[in-house]
Amino acid sequence: MTEFTHFIGGAPAPSQSERASDIFNPATGEVAGRCPLATKTEVEKAIAVAKEAFPAWAKTPSLRRARILDKFKHLLQQNAARLAELISAEHGKTHDDALGEVTRGLEVVEFAIGAPQLLKGEISENVGSGVDSHALRQPLGVVAGITPFNFPAMVPMWMFPVALACGDTFILKPSERVPSASLYMAELLKEAGLPDGVFNVVLGDKEAVDALLEHPDVKAISFVGSTPIARYIYATGTSHGKRVQALGGAKNHMVILPDADMDMAANALMGAAYGSAGERCMAISVAVPVGEKTADALIERLKPRIQALKIGPSSDRAAEMGPLVTAAHLAKVRGYIDRGVAEGAELVVDGRGFKMDRQGYEDGFFLGGSLFDRVTPDMTIWKEEIFGPVLSVVRAGSYDDAVDTIGKHEYGNGVAVFTRDGDAARAFAQDIEVGMVGVNVPIPVPMAFHSFGGWKNSLFGDHHMHGPEGVRFYTRLKTITTRWPTGVRNDAEFTMPTLG
Ligand code: NAD
Repeated sequence: MTEFTHFIGGAPAPSQSERASDIFNPATGEVAGRCPLATKTEVEKAIAVAKEAFPAWAKTPSLRRARILDKFKHLLQQNAARLAELISAEHGKTHDDALGEVTRGLEVVEFAIGAPQLLKGEISENVGSGVDSHALRQPLGVVAGITPFNFPAMVPMWMFPVALACGDTFILKPSERVPSASLYMAELLKEAGLPDGVFNVVLGDKEAVDALLEHPDVKAISFVGSTPIARYIYATGTSHGKRVQALGGAKNHMVILPDADMDMAANALMGAAYGSAGERCMAISVAVPVGEKTADALIERLKPRIQALKIGPSSDRAAEMGPLVTAAHLAKVRGYIDRGVAEGAELVVDGRGFKMDRQGYEDGFFLGGSLFDRVTPDMTIWKEEIFGPVLSVVRAGSYDDAVDTIGKHEYGNGVAVFTRDGDAARAFAQDIEVGMVGVNVPIPVPMAFHSFGGWKNSLFGDHHMHGPEGVRFYTRLKTITTRWPTGVRNDAEFTMPTLG
């Protein structure tokens, strides 16, 4: 049983808190560790340490900061398998899936290594006689990241590499269900030469989050998690004068037009709906085939493949899907399947009957893949995020019906359209009210040098994550207007300065 500690000021920091939560091995169902839940005082200590480290880090030349991140990148590459194991052990996802998330996080580090270029400002010569003007971006100070359980390494890496590259110091509050990846990355950053106090990890729950949200020395908050908490983080953080980007939940649709390559669409759906047991914010959880024939052809392809999904622990390298993260989450997802049946959807494949019979894994939090047909927008399983291996099919009578259904949803994270019709795809991409769109691409997660973020109730705030938006979020603009004595007139001016 692992007893976890915070990581503050460049070293493990044991917690004095009387509260702790269990960390499970989702594949066996056993309690594998205890995560301390930080007190307000412990969070304040981390903030003080990060504040002290800020001036020197902010003044460190950006190229030197970038070189430390470059070393971190190499350490991540060398230790990717170890990091993936830590992720799988607490989250349950397959080893290859965990490696994939490490790579997607590493790409943000690669982007952040370009900091010297990203932080270049603008200059205008001679904005007035003998007057020059330049604009530059400076770091904010101490910033914090609060992250969800489903991407223990990638989501923190959407945040801290960019913040550190910009010259901010960072406090990460990872999900209390999956702390190991964050703590391991803190060690790798130290090994890469990051000065103590620049990156800190505090473990905790609402008490720790509230301490970060309310403290005047925390200048910005990046959050990824469920929508109710994102909304709370945004409202509380901004009311305390902070800059906040809070990414929330999702219900991602995939429209399949009658001319689509049906095999390609079915393949895409299998990975996008059941990969990572559906615990991805960009998972496709609703398929919207247009026309009855398209829907029938799709179900015909999906049904046998869902029944044949290879489900197993991450040690089984042939597994396509692992367990859910906790028993509570498993119960919640099963509850949604019960609800879908009760509300009249047609359960084509029922994952509730799945039993893991491998020795040692009988009590793991496994669920089979499930498929609902004839789901309608008045049903709970359409309205709410299930976050499990459950795909709903909403049959649309026409392209306009499909677009209308998506437009009605409260979330607007990701969406995809599968078609061979360029005009239809172009119109779809232009008109749909969703932040990230895929055309024949099921999980359109933008690359690190673009920015990630949804619309509507999938994001509260003005900035998406990483890419150019990340740099804007973690810096503030300063504009400097300069005149040297040779250009100074000798009389006082009392009117508003104008060009002259
Ligand atoms: P969650 O909202 O329960 O937790 C996220 C973070 O908030 C954790 O660090 C947790 O400790 C903290 N938290 C929980 N309750 C809190 C409270 N009452 N007050 C303050 N802080 C609190 O989310 P989760 O279950 O860990 O993750 C799954 C959710 O995250 C899903 O809804 C998923 O869609 C979403 N998600 C969204 C994106 C995106 O990019 N939009 C990416 C990944 C995950």
